[in-house]
Amino acid sequence: MRANLLILAGTSEATAFARAAADAGLAGTVSFAGRVARPLRQPLPQRSGGFGGVSGLRSYLRAHRVTHVVDATHPFAAQMSRNAVAACAAESVPLVALTRPEWSEAPGDRWIRVSDMAGAVAALDRPPLSVMLAIGRMHLGAFARQVQHRYLLRLVDPPEAPPPFPRCEVIVDRGPFDTTGDLDLLRSRGIELVVSKNAGGSGAYAKIAVARALGLPVVMIDRPVQPDRREVYDVAAALDWVVHAGTDLGV
Ligand code: NAP
Repeated sequence: MRANLLILAGTSEATAFARAAADAGLAGTVSFAGRVARPLRQPLPQRSGGFGGVSGLRSYLRAHRVTHVVDATHPFAAQMSRNAVAACAAESVPLVALTRPEWSEAPGDRWIRVSDMAGAVAALDRPPLSVMLAIGRMHLGAFARQVQHRYLLRLVDPPEAPPPFPRCEVIVDRGPFDTTGDLDLLRSRGIELVVSKNAGGSGAYAKIAVARALGLPVVMIDRPVQPDRREVYDVAAALDWVVHAGTDLGV
């Protein structure tokens, strides 16, 4: 049987894996949640939108005769990852997660670790500061409780509604970002504190390195717990897994 991959996407790793899979002559589909207006063009066919929970994903796997699932979603996309593990187990489709080790504190870092978004909101209960709120757009509403700060947001798409804080600047940009650019950005905006998810990987790390260099505190949001699953940390390992997972399901 020829391999037919389902790549759960939304990260630079997913795009890199899709490129490698296409170059290796593998067939498959790249799946996006549909949150971003202009997802990057992929070297394999792409689809967009939720599957409809575990049962919807099970139906999709059957209908499209998916042979392998590569979950290359963001480490904070925990619902999708849980659904993928459950659906693949139920349909006996092998699954691997292509993910990234989390960032850990380096000498000079001033991290305030919090376990979730609510913890990050609580950590901002302090006098006014200039804050880089690097959490995407989904959870901005929670920070309406801390309107005393001046916020800098960096989003992939312009926000559909104005952010819920009176003092705010939005920059529309898509990573990866580098330390030269982020040093310039944080300095020019007088940023005094950074709020970040512990995304891992290199594409979003520049602001963390810059905060360290400038001696700024970082409210670092821990990752959600992921289900038990096989994980790999680079594209080559994911490709190797596809070729060897399931005795006769390789290229
Ligand atoms: P989530 O909370 O885990 O997922 C919520 C629902 O969105 C899922 O149950 C699923 O709907 C749908 N969904 C998520 N990823 C999908 C995909 N790749 N293909 C099809 N449906 C998908 O996910 P999220 O945190 O909102 O993230 C959404 C997307 O943005 C993901 O592709 C993720 O990789 C990307 N992203 C997320 C973050 C972040 O910080 N969360 C950062 C960068 C990129 P159904 O239940 O209907 O199937």
